[in-house]
Amino acid sequence: MNSSSDVLVIGGGAMGLATAIELTRQGAQVTILSRNFQEAALHAAAGMLAPQAEGLEPGPMLDLCLQSRDLYPEWTSQLTDLTGLETGYWPCGILAPTYADAPPRFTGDAEWCDRTTIHQYQSNLSPDIIGGWWFPQDAQVNNQRLAQVLLQAAQQLGVTLEEGVNVTGFETKNHQIQQVQTTIGPWQAQTYLLATGSWSQELLPIPVTPRKGQLFAVQAPRQTLNKVLFGPGTYIVPRHNGRIVVGATSEEVGFAAYNTPGGLQSLLATALRLYPPLADYPLEKCWWGFRPATPDEWPILGHSPYDNLILATGHYRNGILLTPITAHLITDLIMTGQADPCLANFSWQRFTPSSPATERLALAHS
Ligand SMILES: Cc1cc2nc3c(=O)[nH]c(=O)nc-3n(C[C@H](O)[C@H](O)[C@H](O)COP(=O)(O)OP(=O)(O)OC[C@H]3O[C@@H](n4cnc5c(N)ncnc54)[C@H](O)[C@@H]3O)c2cc1C
Repeated sequence: MNSSSDVLVIGGGAMGLATAIELTRQGAQVTILSRNFQEAALHAAAGMLAPQAEGLEPGPMLDLCLQSRDLYPEWTSQLTDLTGLETGYWPCGILAPTYADAPPRFTGDAEWCDRTTIHQYQSNLSPDIIGGWWFPQDAQVNNQRLAQVLLQAAQQLGVTLEEGVNVTGFETKNHQIQQVQTTIGPWQAQTYLLATGSWSQELLPIPVTPRKGQLFAVQAPRQTLNKVLFGPGTYIVPRHNGRIVVGATSEEVGFAAYNTPGGLQSLLATALRLYPPLADYPLEKCWWGFRPATPDEWPILGHSPYDNLILATGHYRNGILLTPITAHLITDLIMTGQADPCLANFSWQRFTPSSPATERLALAHS
């Protein structure tokens, strides 16, 4: 029997690592059981911090995303102070060009650019672009670097990280997890955190399913773009070193762990139309990942059917953005036992048969 005295985190991706770091900073003893660090969507993502470009409706989800975007500068600079490693956080703004007249949907931090303005502002866009929205507060982080920084920070702070360990099930009694079964035997802790992303249904019947995304990257000879382009059907994310990440398909094909010619073809067509210079840059690599999707596209956070199991999963396409706020809210919940009122909006119970959200969803799909 293995035992970690305070918190056992299942899954060492974005949520697992960031929350383990925060818990440890606040004095908890934390162990992470991680099946495969490399399969985490944390690595596969594009790293946009885009609550506004994503067009989220006003409400609890947009509020959560905006709060998390606000945490990013300090959160990443603390991680850099601790590890000496850069995360590539870049408040570069996001430009959302469009081919057709767009109604002025956004207010506040968004600015509409007409045809002349947008082509002056960003050269070499498709001549078919007739205007677009500029979101100066949206940003990006180099999520591949962030993954390394989080891993190093966790190790430096003394989090016990067991890589290559698959959690296969829970043993429960009286609404409590007694222990978890793993490929290296049972583990016990006072509190358990489920942070298993797209694979959450393997352990608990909550509606989190994989939504596959395919991406590719090119290496520009120099930094030719200095802002993210969020176009119809594609986004183009320049890094400081000239690398340009292009994403992403959105496919309901289960865990089909490979790139496909069809996926890449559609991505290439939309990206090259939006920003033609991409056509001539050396193609560096292509890859894929699985977004943990929920029926309403909001994460599942907080309490679970078991008293000592906390949930941090289902972050879908905004998980990199939501990492710092998730780590903060979940750590508070575990350390104080008090749930921030905002967590009520993200409870697993919204998917129980009689909840208003489930009824709304059923109506929407009828
Ligand atoms: C193509 C693509 C593009 C994206 N772009 C963006 C973006 O631009 N901006 C943004 O904010 N978000 C983006 N995302 C979403 C973001 O990457 C995810 O929401 C986020 O990584 C989810 O974090 P997580 O910790 O829940 O899951 P993950 O990061 O996937 O980590 C889960 C981990 O749990 C482990 N695990 C699973 N089951 C078990 C088990 N039984 N036992 C032990 N370990 C287990 C897995 O091995 C994995 O390492 C994108 C995702 C994809 C796929």
